[in-house]
Amino acid sequence: MRLANRDGRAVIISPDGTSLTDVERASSGRFGPGLPEVYDRWTEFTEWAEGATLDGEREPVTISDLGAPSPAPRQIFAIGLNYRDHADEAGLDHPAVPPTFTKWVGSFAGPEGALRLPAATVDWEAELVVVIGRRADRVAASDAWQHVAGLAVGQDYSERALQLTGPAPQFSLGKSYPGFAPQGPWLSTLDEVEDPDDLPIECSINGETVQKSSTAKLIFSVPQIVEHLSAVVPLLPGDVIFTGTPAGVGGARKPPRFLADGDVVETTIAGLGSLRQTCSMIKREDA
Ligand code: ZN
Repeated sequence: MRLANRDGRAVIISPDGTSLTDVERASSGRFGPGLPEVYDRWTEFTEWAEGATLDGEREPVTISDLGAPSPAPRQIFAIGLNYRDHADEAGLDHPAVPPTFTKWVGSFAGPEGALRLPAATVDWEAELVVVIGRRADRVAASDAWQHVAGLAVGQDYSERALQLTGPAPQFSLGKSYPGFAPQGPWLSTLDEVEDPDDLPIECSINGETVQKSSTAKLIFSVPQIVEHLSAVVPLLPGDVIFTGTPAGVGGARKPPRFLADGDVVETTIAGLGSLRQTCSMIKREDA
């Protein structure tokens, strides 16, 4: 199933990707209308969705109308340095535990739209996003996928100057400007992907490939991340995890390259879909 967010309402995308069905209307009010209510009753919802007839009341899909698949999570986690080649390009050791920060929900956005650049040092980070479907409290890696609702494409846009300023890095703040956490285009449940532990991931700018890898190269796999985080804090339905980015970010290049006015960033994970942002520098008079 592909579950999406249209104007805050949960919708199911048809198998051919061209139409959608409103969950609250199709379930006669049993589920929805919003996404948080759906994640809070994930087991019941998926059982209903498997048997539901969704032929009536289909409407066309417009990707730019969609929002983040889990728009109001209670908790958001992001993992840094989770691909060996990215840790290497950053000149840092491979971590022994997953370095963890957050992206605040004010940075959330849907799959397509404008990315307003607050500075000349904004970088790209293609990432697999995980949404929790069932509460995970001290869950072992071997059981972790059972707690995952599904997967989506994400971008962990990062303002590197702020991120790296001060006596301690400011990862969370530097990665939380408005629009810095686009996700989507929808949530794909695990049955939609052949191997959730091996998903080709790619980022391009103006058609030029800048990142190309696979989630099979994660240092800490999704199950290991769930085990590590849930050993400390129970993960709740709808919680969002950004899992880290592979090599090819702009700040690690010599000379560094950052996003510029007019750049078009496309982020794709095979089987999950694509994101697309068009960058515009915030002009001083609008700031
Ligand atoms: Zn990241």
